[in-house]
Amino acid sequence: MEQIVQQEKEMIEHLSDRKTLMPVRELAKGITYTEPLMTGWKPPLHVRRMSRKDRDLIRKQWHIIVDGEDIPPPIKNFKDMKFPDPILKKLKAKGIVQPTPIQVQGLPVILSGRDMIGIAFTGSGKTLVFVLPLIMIALQEEMMMPILPGEGPFGLIVCPSRELARQTYEVVEQFLVPMRENGYPELRPLLCIGGVDMRSQLDVVKKGVHIVVATPGRLKDMLAKKKMNLDNCRYLTLDEADRLVDLGFEDDIREVFDHFKAQRQTLLFSATMPTKIQNFARSALVKPVTVNVGRAGAANLDVIQEVEYVKQEAKIVYLLECLQKTPPPVLIFCENKADVDDIHEYLLLKGVEAVAIHGGKDQEEREYAISSFKAGKKDVLVATDVASKGLDFPDIQHVINYDMPAEIENYVHRIGRTGRCGKTGIATTFINKNQSETTLLDLKHLLQEAKQRIPPVLAELSDPMEDVDAITNASGVKGCAYCGGLGHRIRDCPKLEHQKSMAIANSRRDYFGSGGYRGEI
Ligand code: AMP
Repeated sequence: MEQIVQQEKEMIEHLSDRKTLMPVRELAKGITYTEPLMTGWKPPLHVRRMSRKDRDLIRKQWHIIVDGEDIPPPIKNFKDMKFPDPILKKLKAKGIVQPTPIQVQGLPVILSGRDMIGIAFTGSGKTLVFVLPLIMIALQEEMMMPILPGEGPFGLIVCPSRELARQTYEVVEQFLVPMRENGYPELRPLLCIGGVDMRSQLDVVKKGVHIVVATPGRLKDMLAKKKMNLDNCRYLTLDEADRLVDLGFEDDIREVFDHFKAQRQTLLFSATMPTKIQNFARSALVKPVTVNVGRAGAANLDVIQEVEYVKQEAKIVYLLECLQKTPPPVLIFCENKADVDDIHEYLLLKGVEAVAIHGGKDQEEREYAISSFKAGKKDVLVATDVASKGLDFPDIQHVINYDMPAEIENYVHRIGRTGRCGKTGIATTFINKNQSETTLLDLKHLLQEAKQRIPPVLAELSDPMEDVDAITNASGVKGCAYCGGLGHRIRDCPKLEHQKSMAIANSRRDYFGSGGYRGEI
């Protein structure tokens, strides 16, 4: 067993070898920051005076797990967070009256200027956790020293997909408008993504921009071409950090880091936080506070998880029956594009108001599908994981997994689209012989953790994790250190295998000289 623990340790270390996230300039000069940045923000006195026991009690009640030094206290209402009036009013107008768990703890941490690792997924209310403090910082900086034409942002949010970037940008705008209308200085946001004419983006930069929401490719381009700089930037959020890494954006992000000229507040949000990303984060963050409402989250989710054995050829017909379980809106996920197209066509034939997105569709089709589904004009959205990552669809009643994703993280992401904000949702997952045993075991463990019914096919699986408790105790790592799956250890990780074969394929492609398309740029 010692051998296994040692072997795992080596695998984990090997993974984090090149994951240092620091600007070259700082590395070269040996600069390391040891103290968090200061902001002018402080919690109200009655919150500061709260005893440690009371703080812990609130965290327990809200299922918030924290880790770190000198953790700022949780705050149970927006007013005590001292947001300007127009922001408080806008929150109320949006029906946001009570903070969600990630907001209760995440907002005080970030408003205090601390670096943070947020473990939360779409639907937890995480966007506001990094957007609102950034608006406060931009406001504070603008009031001290107004931005001049051509000057770069005070804060930067990096997202793994154009859709997610656009959605986040819209949230930023929603709060900036009422501020401007109420006499606060104008704060200019910029959406910096591919697929949009760079000239229109440059026009905004020319005026001077306060907040940038970007995808890594276009951002890197603009910085490299010196169209924009990060000289004033003191706030960085990496949203969906796990996706950013999975989609191969690490090197782009490292290049973006090279443009920082001074210490920044760094925030990293991720739905799952495998050890490799934690290591990656540690090099970039200063005394970070970890706020976790996510992974333990799979168990906390208000989602009834139903797993059904459906033969491959029976799936599409059974799908129609499944759609009857709840009223719309319903999200259907599949692993590959061809299935998305087939299902979409079939549903249209059956008279279902359905739209579809996958990576093979052009930007316009994707935007139409998302906006009509969001607006409630369409009842069903059929999607691949990649195309729908991080998108926020309110009030999804039912998530149907037409297939079980090979990686359990994707399953957690998918089902997290329903059961939001205290409402109960349903997730139905089709499984059959096409799934690997590792995947099914991960699913079984997850269902157990979330106290869900285990279908007989899963219950019957023999579990090779007999020694698991012993290994967990000896290594301190529960489940797989790479992907977080509980049904296997890192040496059997399907995701790691997949990444390795992708890396080999990519190096081959490089060797033969044809550049490959790499994710969303
Ligand atoms: P997010 O996890 O940031 O993608 O947010 C998911 C959805 O929850 C968005 O539509 C938000 O407007 C909404 N939301 C965020 N915070 C709250 C809150 N405290 N109460 C109710 N809804 C919220």
